[in-house]
Amino acid sequence: MSEAPSQSRIWAGASLVTMTQGRYHIIADGAMVVNQGRIAWLGPRASLPARFNGMPRHDFGGGIITPGLIDCHTHLVFGGDRSLEFEQRLNGVSYAEIAAAGGGILSTVNATRAASEDELLALAEQRLKLLLADGITCMEIKSGYGLTLESELKMLRVAKRIGKKYALQVRTTLLAAHAVPPEYQGRPDDYIDLICQHWIPQVAAQGLADAVDGFCEHLAFSPAQIARVFDAAHQAGLPVKLHAEQLSSLGGSTLAARYQALSADHLEYATDRDAAAMAKSGTVAVLLPGACYMLRETQFPPVAHFRRHGVPMALASDINPGTSPACSLRLMLNMACTLFRLTPEEALAGVTTHAAKALGLSDSLGTLEAGKQADFVHWPVNHPAELSYWLGGQIANTVVFRGEQR
Ligand SMILES: [Zn+2]
Repeated sequence: MSEAPSQSRIWAGASLVTMTQGRYHIIADGAMVVNQGRIAWLGPRASLPARFNGMPRHDFGGGIITPGLIDCHTHLVFGGDRSLEFEQRLNGVSYAEIAAAGGGILSTVNATRAASEDELLALAEQRLKLLLADGITCMEIKSGYGLTLESELKMLRVAKRIGKKYALQVRTTLLAAHAVPPEYQGRPDDYIDLICQHWIPQVAAQGLADAVDGFCEHLAFSPAQIARVFDAAHQAGLPVKLHAEQLSSLGGSTLAARYQALSADHLEYATDRDAAAMAKSGTVAVLLPGACYMLRETQFPPVAHFRRHGVPMALASDINPGTSPACSLRLMLNMACTLFRLTPEEALAGVTTHAAKALGLSDSLGTLEAGKQADFVHWPVNHPAELSYWLGGQIANTVVFRGEQR
């Protein structure tokens, strides 16, 4: 892992797509000076200050450089998969029948509980390698398929190990309030008590989570229950995020805004009022087109409201076994453009500038700017719109993490 300070180097000969303020802000034929894993200077190659003469130089000979991509909402760590359910549903078996036979999220919870830490890591790595090929340099990973303290901690430890093993910055999120575990069916408030009184303090004490998340929905937890989780998170000094307004409008995103949440995610049923509240609190709208696509949703997030109120929009893979088995973040850019009508510039900002904000990392990540971490990707394309345009395939050819080529 690149914790050792990297060599100084000039990366030149490509256009710099800086993404400052969430816009392309392209510097044609740019040069970027990297020192100690950070960007020391960037600008047109012709303006490179003389003091950098003699520094080792890498010339790309064309193409573009963007900030490293950030996947700010993932459930990368889980046991089993649900491909057989996918096939069953397409053969006409109903979701209720599958759930009655122990399928659905319960099957993932059982498989995750049964797997050892090493087994979970090996499974996550298979998916991780596919995602990393798209130039991801930072990823958020949630717990939420253990639903016992022991197995939630196990998931978070696996996520932390990924961050140590790979040239990748990992942010971990406790999502114990993802679903009511089988042991607490019919008494969700008892489960919330447990999370608030015991799990959040323990996870915080062990430094295993950077944030706390929940699922606010009829089939999961109410706004009142989520508010208790948020209170406990704040008491433990952890910021919050929320799965909100995915299937119905419960006001979860307004609740999240009240708690200065880093982000509210999904948001298909968010209202104009929710957008106004999120704008005021600086809460990022994380849109997850993979889940919309897999569920064949026709209700899409209110992008026009977010634009009007100036709510930053991020995009993520939401990789999970049930509703978004997405192994390409770049494919999500295309889906956000085709399904939600984002522009390619908004889509790219959604996995750079605004994704960094959704993780509370705007000071160090998300744009190409002097002083920021030197995480960037070289793409052999003519224009950044191509990153949203091509469906699939591997385009990224050089990925640099903290100044070191990966
Ligand atoms: Zn999710």
